[in-house]
Amino acid sequence: MTELEDKIAQAQAEIERATNIVILTGAGISAESGVPTFRGEEGLWQNYRPEELATPEAFWNDPKLVWEWYDWRRNAVKDAKPNPGHYALAELEHYVQKITLITQNIDGLHQMAGSHDVLEMHGNLWQIKCTKCGEIEQSYEVPLAELPPKCKKCGEIGRPNVVWFGEMIDMAVIDAALQAIEQCQVMLIVGTSGVVEPAASMGLVAKQTDKTVIEINLEETPSAGLYDIVIREKSGEVLPLLFTSNKTLS
Ligand code: NAD
Ligand code: ZN
Repeated sequence: MTELEDKIAQAQAEIERATNIVILTGAGISAESGVPTFRGEEGLWQNYRPEELATPEAFWNDPKLVWEWYDWRRNAVKDAKPNPGHYALAELEHYVQKITLITQNIDGLHQMAGSHDVLEMHGNLWQIKCTKCGEIEQSYEVPLAELPPKCKKCGEIGRPNVVWFGEMIDMAVIDAALQAIEQCQVMLIVGTSGVVEPAASMGLVAKQTDKTVIEINLEETPSAGLYDIVIREKSGEVLPLLFTSNKTLS
């Protein structure tokens, strides 16, 4: 058995035994769907780093520029389809009593693959939120006719309904995620660089309470040394191998 086969077998056994699994995903799971990650070369747009654009300061300084970037990102995601990694996670809901899927992604691909009750920590690319009255509009228009888009209710400018660097994540979402981690037996961390909080600490929270943590990422991450099983492969290739479907819900 190769080292990789051995790790996959170990991960399969852990997953097989578990009745409550938490999954945390990041941009890496959507990379094989053609959606650029922030850390990859393709994540750059017009030589701006995402950290320079995904902030409230950048938005209020130049809302049109920030919206042009979101329009570009919406365009990149528009034709993207879930990949075997997304589908494998959705399928897992049929075999495990409780699955909680927490994602930092804003692309909606987990839901498109069939996952239910996804906890979106960073919001959703397809929602526009009014900066004045808070009205949320679901919009799939690409490119948007007007940048920045205007609120249909009050006429003020809208912003992407996402969480920017320096902004608070909805406490209800964090609470739900932490509660799920407390109750699970196994946590899977997939395609996240582990440098953006609070997601970065969630694996540590799981370890502090003695959960089995399995990481799947192409590259080294800061907390990998603490995890139980670390698989350095593409999530779209590995996830379908991890779940054997010989388990049925009792
Ligand atoms: P990130 O861009 O910082 O890092 C992506 C990680 O995925 C890296 O560690 C990389 O090694 C790994 N990776 C790349 N391809 C992979 C593959 N095929 N299989 C497994 N792993 C792979 O992503 P993050 O940590 O999620 O970053 C946080 C921020 O980026 C979040 O705020 C998120 O909202 C935002 N973001 C979201 C999307 C999206 O919705 N698809 C895309 C880009 C950025
Ligand atoms: Zn409004």
